[in-house]
Amino acid sequence: MTTAYVTDPRYTEHTLEGHPENAGRLYAIWQRLEDAGVLDDLAALEPMMASYNQMEAVHQRRYLEMLEMSRSGLMFLDLSDTYVLPGSFDIARIAAGGVLRAVDAVLHSEADNGIAVIRPPGHHATPQWGMGFCLLNNIAIAAQYARRVFELERVMIFDYDVHHGNGTQDIFYDDPDVLFISVHQYPYYPGTGALDETGIGAGVGATINLPLRAGVGDVGYTKSFDEIVRPAARRFAPELLLVSVGFDAHWNDPLAGMQLTLTGYTHLARRLVEVADELCHGRIVFVLEGGYNLEVLSNGVLNVCYALLGKDKIDDPLGKPLRGEPPVDALLDKVKQLHRLG
Ligand SMILES: [Zn+2]
Repeated sequence: MTTAYVTDPRYTEHTLEGHPENAGRLYAIWQRLEDAGVLDDLAALEPMMASYNQMEAVHQRRYLEMLEMSRSGLMFLDLSDTYVLPGSFDIARIAAGGVLRAVDAVLHSEADNGIAVIRPPGHHATPQWGMGFCLLNNIAIAAQYARRVFELERVMIFDYDVHHGNGTQDIFYDDPDVLFISVHQYPYYPGTGALDETGIGAGVGATINLPLRAGVGDVGYTKSFDEIVRPAARRFAPELLLVSVGFDAHWNDPLAGMQLTLTGYTHLARRLVEVADELCHGRIVFVLEGGYNLEVLSNGVLNVCYALLGKDKIDDPLGKPLRGEPPVDALLDKVKQLHRLG
């Protein structure tokens, strides 16, 4: 098994002290992967830099030009959440280019699967504007690239960051050929991701939201996967599976209120790899989004690497939360009905 691993030291140049989305996240991941000795098993690749043409498949040109011109100092796109420094646009282009490189490797059969350990993250960035720590929608740019360059007809994006991937949803809302499924805490930032957001026009049904209430953990996430995500994937039959993975749904994450464990995260990653094996020759690329507890984040990425490599290994130094979790059955019944699943 060859697993492409794309990351880059330049990703640390976009950082702001005191902000949760800072360069320390990557230093923690790199250190953990090295300590675990997994780097020797991964095929390290260097990112490309996303071109204007590639970015414009997702973003409006005037937004890109605004980012390009913001080289005079620190500015924010949304109050104090989303910072842009003089070099940030280039770093964001290399982050998007990291996913492009991983997708390229997988679709050229240079690797079986891959992971892009990038930042800034991307799933909140809309066609018009960045928000929620995200400048460019990395995963959406990669999905468009896979369709345009490799002529794929169907790409699936699964998003299990704790926050709803509003930007990715927006970008593909009217598109029947990109299946977007998001499992997220709801109601919560950014406010979107309700059950009845299912797409528009030809895209109706190609957006599936699983808005989970706070406190859901391994049991609810696993059920959601088995009862909704896997059957929906089978029906859609993707040629490539892209995954927005954020580790902020962990019970010990400082920003959110879900209760996944690292073990639960790993079982989900393994299920995703299985689905890709079953439906699209194992072609799956994980793309890093959020995750703000560094121990969770670094072990979580390591466990995804294990899952991609087919290793039966899990590192979970934090264990389980003390509280129980609320049931998800009623919600899943509604989702099944709405999307005619099962
Ligand atoms: Zn998040």
